[in-house]
Amino acid sequence: MTNFEDAREHMITDQLAARGIRDQRVLDAMRRVPRHAFVPEESRAQAYADRAVPIGSGQTISQPFMVAVMTEALLLKGTERVLEVGTGSGYQAAILAELACDVISIERRPELAETARTALAARGYTNIRVIVGDGTVGYPSAQPFDGILVTAGAPRVPESLKQQLSATGGRLVIPIGPPELQRLAVIVRDENRFSQSLRENCVFVPLVGAEAWPGGG
Ligand code: SAM
Repeated sequence: MTNFEDAREHMITDQLAARGIRDQRVLDAMRRVPRHAFVPEESRAQAYADRAVPIGSGQTISQPFMVAVMTEALLLKGTERVLEVGTGSGYQAAILAELACDVISIERRPELAETARTALAARGYTNIRVIVGDGTVGYPSAQPFDGILVTAGAPRVPESLKQQLSATGGRLVIPIGPPELQRLAVIVRDENRFSQSLRENCVFVPLVGAEAWPGGG
């Protein structure tokens, strides 16, 4: 499809609203952000497809529906500080920046972080910081976070991320499970108590780091 605006509108109605995404702020943000601007030239025709799309370095930009589900689960009102783990293309960071006050996004692959920074700067975002590092240990110097979104699949919930949530109502959204299939978990903090609910099944690339899967490269 070459008409990106039409494709985006179809994405909103057929992939998101029709499947139960109700938060109007999330729908409007995904209507505003040009997803194709975050996808490499060779994959651009697939930018609005109902699936994850390759972005290079063996990584993907998540399926639009999954971006919407995860974002909606953070219940953002506009005043929050949010941490994203797994910048990838920068698209999810852009959606978060539309809906929260301040976004820090961590990516372990420097080349992806650099491409994402360029795409985000071209869109004029000034409330996103892209950091190169291991996001499984969070970002202690900017904690606490009202929301933490992890966009790669983890074997378990990293303890550091739980501890960097805001004490009252901080929310962590993270895919948990084996590499072949994970389940989206939503963890909510109330002081030293953490409640966890399980949501959709999903398949993400692995979260690799000190508090997740081992791996190099
Ligand atoms: N949110 C991204 C987007 O909007 O394009 C999609 C992210 S992609 C599914 C997962 C990303 O997580 C990859 O870019 C991968 O390099 C990154 N990643 C994996 N383990 C990580 C870690 N420990 N810290 C930071 N990033 C990590």
